[in-house]
Order: sequence, then C-alpha cells, then structure tokens
Amino acid sequence: MAEFSIIDTYFNRHSSSAVDLGVGDDSALLTPPPQQQLVICADTLVAGRHFPLDTNPHAIGWKSVAVNLSDIAAMGAKPHSILLALSLPQIDHEWLKGFSQGLYDCCDQFGVSLIGGDTTQSPHLTISVTALGWVDIGKAVTRSGAQVGDFICVSGQVGDAAYGIQHLGHPLQKRLDYPTPRCQLGQQLKGLAHSMIDVSDGLAQDLGHILHASKVGAEIELDQLPIDDHVKQLQQESQWQYALAGGDDYELCFTISPQNYQKLLQLELDVNIHKIGQITEPLGLRYKNYGTDHILKFQGYQHFA
Ligand code: ADP
Ligand code: MG
Repeated sequence: MAEFSIIDTYFNRHSSSAVDLGVGDDSALLTPPPQQQLVICADTLVAGRHFPLDTNPHAIGWKSVAVNLSDIAAMGAKPHSILLALSLPQIDHEWLKGFSQGLYDCCDQFGVSLIGGDTTQSPHLTISVTALGWVDIGKAVTRSGAQVGDFICVSGQVGDAAYGIQHLGHPLQKRLDYPTPRCQLGQQLKGLAHSMIDVSDGLAQDLGHILHASKVGAEIELDQLPIDDHVKQLQQESQWQYALAGGDDYELCFTISPQNYQKLLQLELDVNIHKIGQITEPLGLRYKNYGTDHILKFQGYQHFA
C-alpha cells in the first residue's frame, strides 16, 4: 500500500500539457497532434554512479527530467510528457519531497507532464525517466545528416559540469546539478540544422557520433571553444580536456549550412551559440589552434570502461 500512497502524495499533480488520462490508471492516454511523429527516449540515473549519494534530491529530480528533455531537444522535437520508473531502497519522505519538487520544477519550466511510471523497492536508488515529444513528420534532426562544408556549432559552454564535479562547492556545480535542456533552440533548429546531438559524454565523443553516422570528418578550432572564465584560469591543455572530454554538458552540438547559420543568427535565441569548426570530407576529427594544426588525444565518458 505504501507504493500507492507515495504515488498519490508525490507524483500525482496536475498536468501541464494536454493529457487525456494521466497517473492513476493502467496506462496513460495521449492524442497525438495531427501530422506529428512521436519522439521517445529514456535515460537512467543510478545513485553513486551518475550522481554522488548525498546529492541534493531536488537537483536529482531536476536532472533526471532535464537529461531526457535534452535528448528530445536534440531531435528538434517539442517535449510533451515523461514517465518515471523509481526504485527506492527505503521510503524517505524528506528525500521524496525534494526529488518530486525538482522533477516538477523542471517539468513546469518546459511545459511537460508526468503521465505515469512505476515505483518499486530495490537495494539501489535508480531513477529511470522516459520522455515523449512530438515533431513534424519527417522533420526530426538526426545524427546522420551532416554535410561537407557545414559549420559545427555548440550552444552555451562546454566543460562546466566536468569542472563542477571536480570542484564541488564551486559556482559551476550548478551546471552539473541543474543542466538546462535546450528545448527552444532544438525546435528552432528543426528545418535549419543538418545534424544534431546533445552533448552528454563530452563534445569530442558526441561530435564523433555525428561524424560516424554522417560518414564525414571535422576540423575543430580550439580557440573558438566556449569555455567558462573559471576554467580558462587553467593550463590550456586542461581547458581543452574539460571542454572536449568532460561530460554532462547537455548542450546541443549541431551542423548547419553557412546559409542557414546566417538565418539562425536572425532568430531570437535563449542561449548563445558558437561556431567551433567545419565538416570536412577527410574522415576523423582534427584540431587547429589559431589556424595551426594541433594534436590532442582525448576520450569522452565511457560506460563499462
Ligand atoms: P500497474 O500495477 O497497473 O502497473 P501501478 O500500481 O504500478 O500500476 O501504478 C499505478 C498508477 O500510478 C499508474 O498510472 C502508474 O503509471 C502510476 N505510477 C506509478 N509509479 C509512478 C511514479 N513513480 N510516477 C508517476 N506515476 C507513477
Ligand atoms: Mg495495471
């Protein structure tokens, strides 16, 4: 019975997007808008693995939603709703209160509803969120559309969260705990960007996925990477390590034709974008620093490494 009282107390609030039937029945019901494709993804956060055990529960709630909305944004889609599968070692009301508040705060900020889920007991605190969104049929931006000559761009700053995890208590920890999914930018890039990915495992590795899927190469201008002033205090190689191999940025990396880049600059954006390189025919990822070739060997975050 405890399970039902948890659901009712913490996870049964009013919906913030159109839902025909939400939490409380065997399944939720949604009516797809006309001419839209369903976009759906899932991400799991394991305590001790994806966040320290003593992380503020409000931040865990926020982030478990934000990382999924980031995946929806990376397709050029509009987020609509989430499902939450929660495995708890014990019932801790203080924790559940903070967690659900963080989760709903992120949902409310991006107009998303919690429409269902599952609540179980298990030795490890595990949070699995499934996100749903909509995109015009055939208009999703995938990883495989990059074209030779495209500009490579990234939103916001990269390396902040990785710096934050190494310097807990520093202001940049906020970027680790409360990532901002780039929902508006993602939708604005639909019809403009040729390819897109959200940066979760480090810019170099995630851009590598675009290159692999699109069968192209890239040249990155190290001097153009958007790096926070705090990180810029470090030695040059460490700065690049954070920016290119740090994880948890949840920024959007996309490739776009020079013409569409000009169109993008005319739009009102809620985050800065930076042009950091160009797609090339020769495969692989090469770096330049102020126009001179530079050799770097970094890897992003690897699960099961
Ligand atoms: P069933 O036994 O039919 O699978 P449950 O008893 O698991 O249903 O869940 C009852 C209702 O509560 C369902 O609508 C389910 O989607 C919802 N629910 C369960 N856990 C959560 C949760 N953590 N967050 C949101 N909704 C939940
Ligand atoms: Mg049932």
